[in-house]
Amino acid sequence: MEELQSALKERDLIVCTLPEKGRCLLTTRDFYPGEVIISQEPYVCVPNKSSGNRRCDGCFTSSNLRKCSACHVVWYCGSTCQKLDWKLHRLECQALSRLDMDKRKSVTPSIRLMVKLYLRRKLESEKVIPTTATNNYNLVEALVSHISDIDEKQLVLYAQMASLVNLILQWPEINMKEIAENFSKFACNAHTICDGELRPLGTGLYPVISIINHSCLPNSVLVFEGRLAVVRAVQHITQGAEVLISYIDTAGSTMTRQKALTEQYLFTCTCPRCIKAGQSDDIQESAILEGYQCKDYQCNGFLLRSSDGKGFICQRCGVVRDKEEIRKIASEVKSMLDTVLMSSSAGNHQETFFMYQKIETLQRKLCHPFSISLMQTCEKLLEILMEQQNWREALAYCRLTIPVYQRVYPGFHPLLGLQYYTCGKLEWQSLLAYWHSVGLPKSTGMCVQDFYSPVEVYKGLKGFWATRTVL
Ligand SMILES: [Zn+2]
Ligand SMILES: [Zn+2]
Ligand SMILES: [Zn+2]
Ligand SMILES: [Zn+2]
Repeated sequence: MEELQSALKERDLIVCTLPEKGRCLLTTRDFYPGEVIISQEPYVCVPNKSSGNRRCDGCFTSSNLRKCSACHVVWYCGSTCQKLDWKLHRLECQALSRLDMDKRKSVTPSIRLMVKLYLRRKLESEKVIPTTATNNYNLVEALVSHISDIDEKQLVLYAQMASLVNLILQWPEINMKEIAENFSKFACNAHTICDGELRPLGTGLYPVISIINHSCLPNSVLVFEGRLAVVRAVQHITQGAEVLISYIDTAGSTMTRQKALTEQYLFTCTCPRCIKAGQSDDIQESAILEGYQCKDYQCNGFLLRSSDGKGFICQRCGVVRDKEEIRKIASEVKSMLDTVLMSSSAGNHQETFFMYQKIETLQRKLCHPFSISLMQTCEKLLEILMEQQNWREALAYCRLTIPVYQRVYPGFHPLLGLQYYTCGKLEWQSLLAYWHSVGLPKSTGMCVQDFYSPVEVYKGLKGFWATRTVL
């Protein structure tokens, strides 16, 4: 602990323990938006496993992969990554090779993460892998597991997973209870490693980053550069303040966020947003994000349940919307969402697209224009249109999501930035598509700038968008 404190002191940080929160990371100077507060390499990490989408165990890239010829489980992009990982993988490889092929295929990333955790601990104690002040097993040991709060079903699952780890490692002295508890630790502490466009690549355990507590109104954000976890300030953080990130998607009503936090992280959030639960502005925000549309579609008012329970009253124009009418549309949306999941998993792209369009039409009748579920439908449509390279329509959907993003991800949120970036890329693609349609040679690979001056491009853009009706 002392070692950790002095390493953190160099970065102007300190760990404190508060009775109601446990460990917290505090600053000892001011930090400004964009500044790196702390970064850390994972103690252990594994790439996600999805068929046809394998990744290098070292750097998580998905190109130029070769399988480890001994275990046939792990992939590398080349000898650099393989060599760097060899001390640990040598032992993992031997252990995996003892399993029959079918069992080997069933080893999930979480099981591998646990196997790697035990192997790293062993190699640390044998001084094969050096420990550092910010990365060592003692820090993993200090993480919370909330094991006493876990329900019976989950405990049984962890016990089954522990016996598979035992089967792989075959260490006579291994403590099964401890493995199960460590699975619970992973659930509360491991982080999903994402790429620059925030797509998940894998899972990693970062014991110092895990000290950082949650807020639904965080002053910092966790992003990844390769597998390096980087915490950056998104607000001005004053000296002595606690560094806070969000563990969940903050787009959601207080009730939705609280539910996600209790279910996965087993604590009740008392952040400035959550303590407002039940107050009028919190009720209003929930009604906007997850509630219904006014009967008068032009009104944009939000609805609250009437005192007799028969309907929902618009808080702007006072018009009542019948409960039965809402229930009918809502159940139609629900059943369509269930069906669309099946059709998309069956790879039926065109049908999936039409179904999402129908869902969108229904949700526009049902939900408030700032509704999160409507935004999610637009996201799905955007995704499909981008796959089809239908840039113009994709752009229209992308633009529709921006006001909702601005509302649910305020300030310097990376998801909002990413959405602006996607919009910008689509603007550019649409412009190119337009120029191609009016006779720009398609296959020359030349850029628009080769043909037009920036003024002409600007004029063209203005004219182009003036002819478009945005949804
Ligand atoms: Zn690699
Ligand atoms: Zn291997
Ligand atoms: Zn909260
Ligand atoms: Zn109204």
